[in-house]
Amino acid sequence: MIIVLKSTATEDNIQHILKRVEQLGLKANISRGVERTVIGLLGPEDKLRAIPLEVFPGVDQVIPVLAPYKLVSREFKKDNSVIKIGKDIQLGGSKIIVMAGPCSIESLDGLRSVAKKIKQAGANVLRGGAFKPRTSPYDFQGLGEDGLKHLAQVGKELGMATISEVMDPRDVGLVGKYVDIFQIGARNMQNFSLLKEIGKTKKPAMLKRGMSATIKEWLMSAEYLLANGNYDVMLCERGIRTFETYTRNTLDINAVAVAKQLSHLPVIVDPSHGTGRWGLVGSAAKAAVAAGCDGLMIEVHENPEEALSDGEQSLVPENFNSLMKDLGKIANAVSRTI
Ligand code: PEP
Ligand code: MN
Repeated sequence: MIIVLKSTATEDNIQHILKRVEQLGLKANISRGVERTVIGLLGPEDKLRAIPLEVFPGVDQVIPVLAPYKLVSREFKKDNSVIKIGKDIQLGGSKIIVMAGPCSIESLDGLRSVAKKIKQAGANVLRGGAFKPRTSPYDFQGLGEDGLKHLAQVGKELGMATISEVMDPRDVGLVGKYVDIFQIGARNMQNFSLLKEIGKTKKPAMLKRGMSATIKEWLMSAEYLLANGNYDVMLCERGIRTFETYTRNTLDINAVAVAKQLSHLPVIVDPSHGTGRWGLVGSAAKAAVAAGCDGLMIEVHENPEEALSDGEQSLVPENFNSLMKDLGKIANAVSRTI
């Protein structure tokens, strides 16, 4: 059960509600958003119905939510959530937002050079990893704060919003100083300390689906972010592990439609990690747009042979440019723009 408070609700109204529900032995979880405060109530159904919460001062709506994820569910919010990024990006509306850039930030000049081409092709957000979750401790781990500085500088020079991964709850403040969107990587989808820390910020966050996570687990992780007060959350399908070995992962196109049905949050698709092969990225990206995604994240590198990570799945800028043109046609066919 969710109690949505009026914007005019006072602290006294909130404390009065909390006192009454706690007397009944119910667990209350309060989330103070910028626009509204919401109280989530957990407990047995009969106890939840024991008091007419609708008549309490300050209460706007009382919503019964059957799904285990409450705040992220369509039952809680019927309309699609639209996230404002920077000054002029609206994610979750009719325009499909494209995030692109190298897997890892390798140098300032290299990032600037690829970013110019990406921007010219029509991408809206510049991606680049500075803290890299590598399988081997001997592989390139990212440039750390220097990489974030490069990303912020190039983003500013070109007027592009930025996204980069944060892996450690202790780095949320640091990464937050430089980027417009936090990326939560697949390996950290259930790093609950990280989710809580990012949930306490007001910065948009993109939550990648864990490679072995069910859609329900993914939505439960998103719930951590919203329950801690951050409503600017986007989901990202990036492929799951299956028995198939030809591709790095199996891009779960079903998950796009399922997530859109179950949740009001925008859904991004990452066809680069979803396939692991640059020659398949275009087909997967087109399928994602046709399936109703709100955004794409695509790895692009000027010289994939020399890339310090994920070169095999990175598009060269020329291919990215022609893909963007094709995606425009598919977007139009499903009444969207890109
Ligand atoms: C990435 O975006 O480079 C990345 C590491 O992604 P994922 O967490 O999906 O593997
Ligand atoms: Mn990568």
